[in-house]
Amino acid sequence: MARLILFGPPGAGKGTQAVSLAEDFGIPHISTGDLLRAAIASGSPLGIKVKNFLDQGQLVPDQVVIEMVEERLGQGNVASGWLLDGFPRTIPQAETLEALLEQMGQGCDRVINLQVSEAVLISRMLSRGRPDDTEAIIKERFQVYHQQTEPLLAFYRGRGCLVDIDGDTTIETVSQRIKLALVDLR
Ligand code: ADP
Repeated sequence: MARLILFGPPGAGKGTQAVSLAEDFGIPHISTGDLLRAAIASGSPLGIKVKNFLDQGQLVPDQVVIEMVEERLGQGNVASGWLLDGFPRTIPQAETLEALLEQMGQGCDRVINLQVSEAVLISRMLSRGRPDDTEAIIKERFQVYHQQTEPLLAFYRGRGCLVDIDGDTTIETVSQRIKLALVDLR
């Protein structure tokens, strides 16, 4: 049983780590970025509504992502836990998640904070080549991260569930470090 949040700046490697971590714990990987990109690719009303925000490196309005996550956590296969990737990203999202989990009689076990230097983040994103990975949009996403998302570190540190992981190294080493920080949840 593990209820986990993977946290970090854009390009920190959340998605990469999330896939193996979710598999390892046998829990669903819930990525708001992936859900939003899938909605855009499908051309659904949700996708049409959110496309410009992603293209411009802005956050999608809280209400939209909150509804998406609420719906996902309301589905069946979350009894053994879950791994949230890219959510929450604002204080209102974190507060709503906390209230929602309380209603469900759940909590969050750990928030994993992937720490990576800005130079490494930029080179990783530029080599990834996603449509929102151009230099100008990356700059915008960093600004949004510092203004709206970074304050969550103090929020979760205050809850006593934050673990800092040095993510400035190879995928395998980061993965090992995360596993080590979660051994007590097994
Ligand atoms: P990265 O962490 O590399 O920026 P993500 O896939 O997590 O990539 O997010 C890509 C984009 O999706 C964000 O820039 C934002 O526009 C949107 N997004 C994802 N999650 C959220 C969220 N929780 N709240 C608002 N917007 C989000």
